[in-house]
Amino acid sequence: MTEFNHRVHNFCAGPAALPESVLLRAQSELLNFRNSGSSIMEMSHRGSIFMAIAAEAEARLRLLLSIPDNYKVLFLQGGAHLQFAMIPMNLMLKDQPMAFADTGYWSRRAIKEAALLGNVITVTSSKNNADTAIPEFNTWNIPDQASFLHYTPNETIHGIEFDWIPDAGDIPLVADLSSSILSQPLDVSKFGLIYAGAQKNIGPAGLTLVIIRDDLVARAPKNIPGYLNYATQVEQGSMYNTPATFAWYLANMVFEWLLNLGGLSAIAKINQQKAELLYKCIDDSDLYSNPVRRQNRSRMNVPFILKDPNLDKVFLMESEKNGLLNLKGHRAVGGMRASLYNAVGIDSVKALTDFMREFEKKHG
Ligand SMILES: *Cc1c(COP(=O)(O)O)cnc(C)c1O
Repeated sequence: MTEFNHRVHNFCAGPAALPESVLLRAQSELLNFRNSGSSIMEMSHRGSIFMAIAAEAEARLRLLLSIPDNYKVLFLQGGAHLQFAMIPMNLMLKDQPMAFADTGYWSRRAIKEAALLGNVITVTSSKNNADTAIPEFNTWNIPDQASFLHYTPNETIHGIEFDWIPDAGDIPLVADLSSSILSQPLDVSKFGLIYAGAQKNIGPAGLTLVIIRDDLVARAPKNIPGYLNYATQVEQGSMYNTPATFAWYLANMVFEWLLNLGGLSAIAKINQQKAELLYKCIDDSDLYSNPVRRQNRSRMNVPFILKDPNLDKVFLMESEKNGLLNLKGHRAVGGMRASLYNAVGIDSVKALTDFMREFEKKHG
């Protein structure tokens, strides 16, 4: 592994890059948090200092996403995977199947976990197009009596993203936004429940965000363990047990950073520019390609393959030497993948596309 005495351009799919200003601030506050005499990590989560941070994080998130008053916000643990279980446990209704859209790897993981707990109906599948496009909504087969409809707005591994929101009428819409939350404005009122592991666009691993509409909180049956029960978590303000305090504190600073940038419409513009730069570089080249239908190309995760897979190793070695890290594609897809989350600057994308063009001149 190459050693660096500076920070690199980090394209990791998760845990992902964090804003440098946030890390520096955390560093400066690490030993003695705002003259409290100890680290934020060493304090009671129920003390006034941490409670203020927790409340500030929620307020900032509500501002960023314009979350309506009839939604609750939870800061939980267990990642997206625990939500794969909590959602069926809390939202499944008797004799009403759980409807899932299958648009790639993460949808399938969610389906597999839900199927352990109840009756799952897959309403559509992108397997039919080798995970290169989102099937049109008018081809989806949604049962009238579904408990909820689950989908994955951005498939992190295949790099396909919805540019529309499914409308299943009265059936609550549940979305795994782990890899695209806070990357652009979102109409929260269209959803019954939104969840996201923090380690892509929110903060460090260990924190999971859940935004849930009031009527669904009440759906939770009484006979499930307290931690796993949304109603308990809402009652206890996400402090039924000890929460991930340090991750919550960092997320609060990431929210502040986004607000200072101008909020989600401002970051959306930057994200759009970043994605356009990279897709243009791929499309203009004879060496690189991306198979995804244009309108479904992810703005956050850009997989690309090299014409000659024998060049993969060389590409990874040389990119690393140039301070461009974590470009290896997921084993399910192969090739390369660049994740362009919020904290990845446009300078990083320019460095990557410059390198890619140079590499093609040399090896193409
Ligand atoms: C990363 C990711 C996950 C897995 O998240 P964990 O927090 O590791 O459980 C699930 N869904 C999507 C869309 C992801 O990008």
